[in-house]
Amino acid sequence: MRLAVMRERHPGETRVALTPANVSTLTGLGCEVFVETGAGDAAGFANDGYREAGAEILETRAQLLDAGEIVLCVDGAHEEAFADLRAGHIGIGMLDPLSRPERFRGLAERGITSLALELVPRISRAQSMDALSSIATLAGYKAVLLAACQAPRLFPMMMTAAGTLNPSRVFIMGAGVAGLQAAATAKRLGAVVEAYDVRPAARDQILSVGAKPIELDLDTSSSEGQGGYASEQDDDFLRRQREQMADVLAQQDVVVTTAAIPGAKAPVLITEEMVKRMKPGAVIVDLAAERGGNCELTQAGETLEAYGVTIIGPTNIAASLPHHASQMYGRNMENLLRHLLDEEGRLALDFEDEILDETVVTHGGEVRAARIRERLV
Ligand code: NAD
Repeated sequence: MRLAVMRERHPGETRVALTPANVSTLTGLGCEVFVETGAGDAAGFANDGYREAGAEILETRAQLLDAGEIVLCVDGAHEEAFADLRAGHIGIGMLDPLSRPERFRGLAERGITSLALELVPRISRAQSMDALSSIATLAGYKAVLLAACQAPRLFPMMMTAAGTLNPSRVFIMGAGVAGLQAAATAKRLGAVVEAYDVRPAARDQILSVGAKPIELDLDTSSSEGQGGYASEQDDDFLRRQREQMADVLAQQDVVVTTAAIPGAKAPVLITEEMVKRMKPGAVIVDLAAERGGNCELTQAGETLEAYGVTIIGPTNIAASLPHHASQMYGRNMENLLRHLLDEEGRLALDFEDEILDETVVTHGGEVRAARIRERLV
């Protein structure tokens, strides 16, 4: 297999699709790896490291696309990412297919095979390829640090000669991968941590990271949908959830929201009225900012103040930790590529295999992923 690692073009994207360690492994398996010059610079992986690992550095995108049959990127959700790919190329990256299914008709018509890491199924066998979980882990960690830097209070309790300082109260809304990591991070910093999720199964996971689960008087028996994700809640459920949540929020110093429904706008968990009732100096970090936000007042990419509360709406938070984010993403990508190789090290697309069946969006001139086809009208 000839692999081509693109230099990311989209502003603010600092990650790279493979690190030198992944290159070593993949060349060891018989792959040739080509890297666009400077692809790993922003993540701390210089050209020399890739050369030492067995890759060839190429100066231009045109050379890269001539050399490689499988083109790897991180942010492939933007039009320009695959604009230069030709028929027969296989493009792999984060392609955001659930939000922008229409784009894939064009890729199919151009004869491009595309694989979206977001579609890797949530089965044990595919866990090592699950880039969404890698990103969520980093986002949960970083969200708490952003809040801690912004908050006017310390997280831990401190008994000092100048008196005792009470610990901060941190509340996590949505206890999936990001939320549990946020809870664990806030706990490590010494805060008093509570968390809430619609999925009943989240209760034990919240306890396992040392946080306290908040229970509401709501019927959540059908809250868990396909693949362990939450199913979409109706307006009445969300309204009643907000009513009961307002009192909980009014006591918090920091709130981290992570609630998401795959391919849909994020549910509004915090209204303007609820923000008005929060403590002055409280901080909300809204990890759903890119999907419309869990707080009504969030602006994606902005930090703003409303009614004395700071609301942070980070976007592409993993790019603020480019080294480890690339290490995790590169390992997920490496594992997917290993899965695509047959015993002789050649590319084998076996659609009987559940992982490939769900992850390949376009192939053979068609949009073939069922989850994307059903979104095309
Ligand atoms: P996600 O990013 O889609 O959503 C984040 C969380 O928000 C979820 O826990 C969801 O239940 C919650 N949420 C949605 N609507 C809500 C609402 N109205 N109020 C409160 N919370 C709400 O989810 P995720 O973090 O990617 O993962 C969700 C689940 O999938 C977790 O149980 C996780 O352990 C599991 N998972 C399994 C695998 C695997 O088996 N390979 C991999 C990753 C995650």
